[in-house]
Parts: sequence; structure tokens; C-alpha cells
Amino acid sequence: MGRYNNGIVYTNENCIGCNKCVYVCQSFGANVSVGKDAKAHVEVSNNCINCGMCVRECHHNARMYRDDTEDFFEALAGGERISLVVDPSFPVFYGEDAYRILQYLRAKGVNKMYDVSYGAEISAWCHAKYIKDSRNNPDPPFVANNCVGVTNYVERFFPKFIKWTIPVYSPVDCTVIYARKYLNDDAKIAYLGSCVSELVSAKERHGISYCVMIDSLVDKIGSAYKAYAPTAMDLYSDGIGRMLPFSGGFCEMVSLYFPRGKSFIHYDGLNEDLMNKIKRMVKGENRRKPTVFSAEFCIDGCLAGPGLKKSMPRMKDYCNIYNEVRMKAFEKYDESMSPHEFFRYYGTCYKDLDFNDFLCTFRDELVQPFSLPELWWPKR
Ligand code: SF4
Ligand code: SF4
Repeated sequence: MGRYNNGIVYTNENCIGCNKCVYVCQSFGANVSVGKDAKAHVEVSNNCINCGMCVRECHHNARMYRDDTEDFFEALAGGERISLVVDPSFPVFYGEDAYRILQYLRAKGVNKMYDVSYGAEISAWCHAKYIKDSRNNPDPPFVANNCVGVTNYVERFFPKFIKWTIPVYSPVDCTVIYARKYLNDDAKIAYLGSCVSELVSAKERHGISYCVMIDSLVDKIGSAYKAYAPTAMDLYSDGIGRMLPFSGGFCEMVSLYFPRGKSFIHYDGLNEDLMNKIKRMVKGENRRKPTVFSAEFCIDGCLAGPGLKKSMPRMKDYCNIYNEVRMKAFEKYDESMSPHEFFRYYGTCYKDLDFNDFLCTFRDELVQPFSLPELWWPKR
């Protein structure tokens, strides 16, 4: 095994050394130029935080990721009980085909299927409740915990911002917690989605056993699913949770619980400029902090996740798809509901949930990006 390319994200032989990966990477020292057969070649070091930006941006199909698709199918064939947590970007991209593929997976033995849109609603409501409960805190947290790539980035490079991150579990976490504790699902859990960051985080944070990227799944099964009738998932949102995979969708979900005068700011694409913006908000250079600031690592949200790169041609009709999903997401609510009534409505839906189950803590994982020389001290 070489010194580099041993993690989740790696470079294959297609690399031509164009350095595009270097430009998009926010992790100092994650890309290392190595000479290989007299050609420039950029490999990945263990400074990589698995955000997947380079996978998406590499036009030479040289940046890849290692996921658990093969192990997942082997485990199913071996009779393991596995439930599936499904990112809502899957049905958005694949429409009816998504539900046929899910039925194919049921036939292969998948136990239950949970749409993360359901956990997104729990997470958004808990964010709102946390903010409302903190109304007497003069310096309350205001950064949403909706994107695991962003959370990894903050924990690793800007841990001093942890105190301003709202300590509520993310939509994926909330889905898993709900399935485990409230639906008593004791099967192993697999994640199906577009987020390369989840390839590490899902296992570390939520005890998920397998992470399958949507592109890998589709490649693996080819057209075998076409003979299957569509199936519904065992748990899904018929409301605002459907907005989750769209850029700023989560921020909008939380904003619905507050009067319009409150500010909600969302950015796509994380970089140092963005962190500087947060720094200025924290320092009070801006007039005031927003009620919620949310960011997503992927420009265009989860729909642009690296695990959906090959599926991109399916999204030509983005505006129509967005309009359709949005219309369905809002049609179940009475339009005259005030933010206060909206909060109460969901409070009633979640009356049997223990709010504390959905509160999390973050870790300070600051890693010095370069090694320090050993210090020499004179003998006393
Ligand atoms: S991995 Fe891709 S983006 Fe990076 S240098 Fe190689 S070809 Fe270019
Ligand atoms: S996955 Fe993200 S952190 Fe890792 S090399 Fe690519 S851009 Fe950098």
C-alpha cells in the first residue's frame, strides 16, 4: 500500500495532473502531487475530509470514492437483516424508477425503508424548538447542522465555531434515531444517498453499517429493476421534508416556524470566505447574527452530491422538478397557518418524541495540517 490514496476518496490512473481538484479542495495538504511514470499525478493524503468536491469537479473521472455497494449486496445475499435509509435526492432524480429499484432491493431482502425527508422534518422542528428555547441566551448558536460535510469541516478546522452550531442531529441522524428508538428497528442500517461525507460520518456518528452511493447502486443493478413494480417506503414525508435535497431547503424548512422579519441565510459551497463571513457574524461586525445560518458543501445542495455525478443528465428539467416537489411539499398545509400555528402543528405531531433524543454534541477534531518539528530542549 502506498503512502497516499488509502482513504475513501482516491485518484485512479486517469489523472492527468490538471490540478482542478487542488483548486476546489478546502483541506490543506489533502492533495499531493506525485511523479508517476514521468507524468504529473495528484493523489489524496489522509488530510482529506471526504467532502467529495474533487470527485464532482474532476472531469477526467480520476477522482473516485470507495463505498460499500459490494459488501451491502453480499450481506443481503448472506441473509443479513438490513434496513435502508434513503436520501430524498434519489426519488427526485429517478422518479418512478427509484421506487422500482427499491422494490428490487426489497426482493433482495432489504427489511424496512426510511426516507430521510421524514427525519429532516424532525430535525427542522428540533432546530426551531432549540432556537425558541434559547431566546434568553444572549449569544445563542445559529449555524444549522444540516450538512455533514460542513459539520466535519467545522469540527476539523474551525472547532471554535462549534459553540455556535445548533446541537440538533442532522436529518440522516434523526431518521436513524427515529427508526431505532420509535419504530424499534434493530436491523443493521444502510444509507443510500449522494453524500460522500456520509461514507465516514454515517458509520462513526450513527452506527450505520453500509453506505451505498446512488450512482454505484444504479451501476451495479443495471436494468434488472425494470421488471419490478414501484413500492412505497415504510416512512416518508408528505410535507416540507421533501424540500431537503434542494439548495437551501433545510434552511427554508426551519424558517417556516418564525415570523418573516427573522433572518435566515443560506450559502452553497464552503470555503474560507464563507468561514470569514461566519467569523464576522460571531464578532458582531454585522448588525446582528441571523436566526439561522445554513451552508451546504455541495453547490446546489444534496442534488449535486458527488454520489449522483453520473446521474446528472437526469436533472435537465431542474426547474420543473423543483416546482413539482415544492407544490407537493406544501399542499397538505393550510395556507393561512401562522408560524406559531405551524410550530404547534408539528409539536402535536411529535408529542410522543423525547426532544433530548435528537440533541447532539460536536467534537473538536482540530488537526494540525502539517507536522511540527520536534523541539530540542537543553538539559537542565
Ligand atoms: S484527480 Fe482529476 S482534477 Fe485532480 S489532477 Fe487528476 S485529473 Fe485533474
Ligand atoms: S474529498 Fe474534499 S477534502 Fe478530500 S481531497 Fe477531495 S476536495 Fe479535498
